[in-house]
Amino acid sequence: MSLIVQKFGGSSVANAERVMNVARIVTDTYKNGNDVVVVVSAQGDTTDDLIDKANEINPRASKREMDMLLSAGEQISISLLAMAIEKLGYPVCSLLGWQAGFATNSSYGSARIKKVTADRIKEEIEKKRIVVVAGFQGLNKYGDITTLGRGGSDTSAVAIAASLHADRCQIYTDVEGVYTADPRKIKGAKKLSEITYDEMLELATLGAQVLNNRSVEMAKKYNVTIEVLSSLAKASGTIVKEVTNVEKMLVRGVTKDSDVARISIIGVPNVPGIAYKIFGKLAAKNINIDIILQSVGRGNTKDIAFTTSKANSETAIEVLKSLELLAGLEIICDTSVSKISVVGAGMESHPGVAAKMFEALFENDINIQMISTSEIKISVLIDINDADKAVAAVHEAFIPELTD
Ligand code: ASP
Ligand code: MG
Repeated sequence: MSLIVQKFGGSSVANAERVMNVARIVTDTYKNGNDVVVVVSAQGDTTDDLIDKANEINPRASKREMDMLLSAGEQISISLLAMAIEKLGYPVCSLLGWQAGFATNSSYGSARIKKVTADRIKEEIEKKRIVVVAGFQGLNKYGDITTLGRGGSDTSAVAIAASLHADRCQIYTDVEGVYTADPRKIKGAKKLSEITYDEMLELATLGAQVLNNRSVEMAKKYNVTIEVLSSLAKASGTIVKEVTNVEKMLVRGVTKDSDVARISIIGVPNVPGIAYKIFGKLAAKNINIDIILQSVGRGNTKDIAFTTSKANSETAIEVLKSLELLAGLEIICDTSVSKISVVGAGMESHPGVAAKMFEALFENDINIQMISTSEIKISVLIDINDADKAVAAVHEAFIPELTD
């Protein structure tokens, strides 16, 4: 007998028929002799709809009241799913985040889980009940409801799996697993049978929207093996775990991230301390920087360019304009760029990955503006209009290695 945590996202419980479908998956698992804890998200677009409702009344509502509102979405799903399970004739109990023991910090809207005291869940399991828990929510030290940030239910599921030492944490979604590229856009994109936490983190951060990246960080920290699979198709999914056969496969996927802005500062003085002053100031304003490029100095000056998210770009420009040492210099912000990356844990020990990527881009006449590399990824910044073509070309180039 195993203890299995199953999480179902909003699309998996979007309507009555889908809720019944989930109830069948859950009760089949239970029927096979397992203890089952289920975590659910709000139905379909409920969370977005609730945000719209709030905006109609007060676009500047406090975050505390927003959390009070948004947590209602998950309350609806847990009760409906429990009713569906009752209908199939199985013992069940639904629990809100606080009832399930989720203690969080007080950052309304993006709360961090501090601890899951799963006593109540354990009691219900003892009574042989299927336990259905509201994802995305917890309670802070003031006894107020908090939410974990968009897509937070994945993290709720992993936290429960960690706290109960579950045998498996299955994340059911509307795709069949993690793919080498977006299967809706890229012909020949393949489902991966396994992927490491680090690779998954890169893919999640770079825009493969299958798993929330905080959930992957937590799974890595507590060594929770995740299985990503579809609630709609009966097929094996993708296993996310610490070690997989990296020898066999070099590249796991190709991603595109278009939430990027490139900021260039032209003609900064070529003296020590400049980078420190610029990036120190940006860090102080909490602006996350990604790729940084500094040109070779020409005489007394050099250029510095970096990328950040589009949302951060305006603040970044303001910060730069307020710096005395940059007074009068040309500062350019380009938001029509995209970052294309290849990700794979095996690549650090295999030469030629970067060259192959650059060749594919060159053959398609795509200009590279910036390059950055890490142990498990190579990213290039290109014109946003070339982005889809670039992903297709790079994916095509790596297809022989994208099999498992
Ligand atoms: N319902 C929340 C959202 O839409 C949490 C989740 O889906 O994981 O962001
Ligand atoms: Mg949702």
